[in-house]
Amino acid sequence: MARIVMKFGGTSVADLDRIKNVARHVKREVDAGHEVAVVVSAMSGKTNELVGWVQGAPKVVGANSPFYDAREYDAVVASGEQVTSGLLSIALQAMDINARSWQGWQIPIRTDNAHGAARILEIDGADIIKRMGEGQVAVISGFQGLGPDNRIATLGRGGSDTSAVAIAAAVKADRCDIYTDVDGVYTTDPRIVPQARRLKKIAFEEMLEMASLGAKVLQVRSVELAMVHKVRTFVRSSFEDPDAPGMGDLLNPPGTLICDEDEIVEQEVVTGIAYAKDEAQISLRRLADRPGVSAAIFGPLAESHINVDMIVQNISEDGSKTDMTFTVPSGDVEKAIKVLGENKEKIGYDVVQNESGLVKVSVIGIGMRSHAGVAATAFKALAEKGINIKAITTSEIKISILIDGPYAELAVRTLHSCYGLDKN
Ligand code: ASP
Ligand code: MG
Repeated sequence: MARIVMKFGGTSVADLDRIKNVARHVKREVDAGHEVAVVVSAMSGKTNELVGWVQGAPKVVGANSPFYDAREYDAVVASGEQVTSGLLSIALQAMDINARSWQGWQIPIRTDNAHGAARILEIDGADIIKRMGEGQVAVISGFQGLGPDNRIATLGRGGSDTSAVAIAAAVKADRCDIYTDVDGVYTTDPRIVPQARRLKKIAFEEMLEMASLGAKVLQVRSVELAMVHKVRTFVRSSFEDPDAPGMGDLLNPPGTLICDEDEIVEQEVVTGIAYAKDEAQISLRRLADRPGVSAAIFGPLAESHINVDMIVQNISEDGSKTDMTFTVPSGDVEKAIKVLGENKEKIGYDVVQNESGLVKVSVIGIGMRSHAGVAATAFKALAEKGINIKAITTSEIKISILIDGPYAELAVRTLHSCYGLDKN
């Protein structure tokens, strides 16, 4: 017998038929004798609709956000998950399964006060553990918790993944299954590279890079949490027949296991290729090369919550002047240019230039730590296709390359095949 947390995303609970189908997945695990907690998202499209309603509502002057009161935003958008947890409990009861819905405040899942983007601080799993022990399935609304102000707080878009992993850690689950509309994590986006392969296993660190770099299977924060608490997390499909052979396999269910790197025996050098669209490059020309310039540039940008990524610095031959180039999400360019303009005197640059529509392609693999020449292989392959590299950054397990937008798909395909990731 095991203790399993099963999470179902929006497309998996999109209508009453899909919810019935989810109930069959749950029944399979219950019938096998496992203790089960389920975490659900809102029905697909619901959260967008709720957010739209809030944004369309009259603005409140003096509220704690320039647009609307974030506590009331949470009160509205958290309702989507409440509906699904109730409907799934009803569907389970109709199958003779003892089930009960739980909202974040009932458990409680305690969060900080950042309404709309709250972080989970603490979960009291005692009540749920007790009921699971008595054979009751806990059907928990994802995406929500209870803030220190005693009000509902939501965790940011995609947050029900984080709810699921946090609950799995709190109840010491053997496994956290994230059911979604794809059947696992792939070596790259299969829509771009049809030869992409489904990975059997991927290390937490690698998944963290994949998720941060645009692979949208999981919320980044859920992967961080899984890594910290070593929650073995499976990404698998709810669209397969719940009773197909192997679906109830305790150790090797179909899907991708995100786990500790020690669990991965046949480690490849490169695990996957990720890409992030809509990057922009900003260059400050002819800065004085003196201590404090970087602080003068990146301090104000950070204070304005602009996420700076790749940073490249060039020094003139006589060492007196420097150029600083860095990337930000395209949507932040205007804001960044404004901040830089306001600080022009303090920073002391000559001109600022910018270019949007760039793409960052990344090669990821923990095997890189112990293998030389991984970057050189990428550069050679891209050169052969005539793809120009605008900036490069590397870490122990990742090489990121900035290129012009129109070359994105060619670059992803080229890198995927040059590391032998294509399925044959
Ligand atoms: N329903 C929320 C959203 O759409 C949370 C989630 O699905 O993970 O962002
Ligand atoms: Mg999601």
